[in-house]
Amino acid sequence: MEKIRTRFAPSPTGYLHIGGLRTALFSYLWAKKNKGEFIIRIEDTDRERYIANADQELIDTLAKVGIVSDVEVKHQSDRLSLYQKASDKLINNNQAYKCFCSPERLDKVREEQQKNKQVPKYDRHCLNLSKEEIDKNIQAGQKFVVRFKIPDDEIIVGQDAVYGKISIKGQDLDDFVILKSNKFPTYHLANVVDDHDMRISHVIRGEEWMPSFPKHILIYKALKYNLPTFVHLPLLLNPDKSKLSKRQGDVAVEDYLKKGYLIESLINYVALLGWNPGNDQEFFMINELIKEFSLEKINKAGAVFDITKLNWFNAEYIRKIIEQNDKRFEQLISNTEKFLGKNAHKAKKVLRLFGSRIDNLADLGEDSKFLFDLPEYDKEMLIFKKSDFEKTKEGINLALGILGKIHHSEWDQDTINNSIKDIIAKRNLSPGDIFWPLRVACSGLERSPSPGELLEFLGKEEALSRVKKAIKKLS
Ligand code: GLU
Repeated sequence: MEKIRTRFAPSPTGYLHIGGLRTALFSYLWAKKNKGEFIIRIEDTDRERYIANADQELIDTLAKVGIVSDVEVKHQSDRLSLYQKASDKLINNNQAYKCFCSPERLDKVREEQQKNKQVPKYDRHCLNLSKEEIDKNIQAGQKFVVRFKIPDDEIIVGQDAVYGKISIKGQDLDDFVILKSNKFPTYHLANVVDDHDMRISHVIRGEEWMPSFPKHILIYKALKYNLPTFVHLPLLLNPDKSKLSKRQGDVAVEDYLKKGYLIESLINYVALLGWNPGNDQEFFMINELIKEFSLEKINKAGAVFDITKLNWFNAEYIRKIIEQNDKRFEQLISNTEKFLGKNAHKAKKVLRLFGSRIDNLADLGEDSKFLFDLPEYDKEMLIFKKSDFEKTKEGINLALGILGKIHHSEWDQDTINNSIKDIIAKRNLSPGDIFWPLRVACSGLERSPSPGELLEFLGKEEALSRVKKAIKKLS
């Protein structure tokens, strides 16, 4: 069997979008699953939309999440002669023609057609120019584009691995441009020529390229190329089912990485956007995805990009990594340090305390501030809603006495909790009379990790100083 080759073919017009990551990932998985080759190709023939360095940024972002090209990354702008040759061949075979129409003329034709309620379409003004006319125009320095000649009477039929059979009448297509006046190819020509030249077996791309599919089929046939398998991936949607856009939230992969989303959770979540394993397994490491991935399990229906689900995956991965406590935990700690500023040396403890309660590592910086600087709080906050001033005062004073007696070497949440529970029972108090004011004393907050966890994190000295501060407020 022929080797499986897939490609990701971004245009360098900006950052890597979540949708781009999904396309790249699916292409990568399919190649790896089949021990084939995954190729990154930069489609930089649209000079007006070109953004400097965007190509390298796309490549770098993909590399960060583990997706790298198996062969040297190629740029279409370095391969212009290839497209020129293909265009010449099509002209010679009478399947394409030079068009000298000015943009002004094309505008006029379009306006006229719209006025007459016709579908705008090139009127083939230059289709039958004689060789003499063409030579004359060129000698006069007139610019031209090359247009593909659509076979009007043909029905173009294509097969997509996800969407099945498509068919469209030739007469519904326009004689589209394949080579621009600056000698750069359009997307259609370059894309087909390269997929053929690079021996791509599976063209995997977003559904938004479906309208280009029939045009590509025509070019493949005209150039006598074999067709690869086409796999169009379902649209990505916002939770309100509109097309996923920048406006409704972050879609730049780099932003997620900057916020400290883990690569594992991003990849895991993105893999499930339009693909499912066919059972209820949710967690997949990359090697499992490579094993399980299949084209048959790609859905047709649009896939909703739901940030709350991604957050859930991220928190779960953080929790698991902490639990497993191996090399990956060390990496997570050093990743976390970036977000903690001067408290970086406490990264491990902060992660243990907070890791599974956050959406991403960036939240950790903000959420853990109170551990290092006790915020101001009102003394009323110390009193639990089912308790009162006297009982609270008694409770927290008792706590101070008990905590003072716990030796440094035994300062952990179990010992702390047990000692306090003992005194609660002996003195006939309720937990809210002691645990609540301890929580507020240690955090200055009404919501926090449990008082035992906080006391352990703070260490005996800092904890007692915070408790004393609270007692002072109450007296
Ligand atoms: N250059 C196109 C893009 O930016 C590639 C589409 C395709 O994969 O054919 O997505």
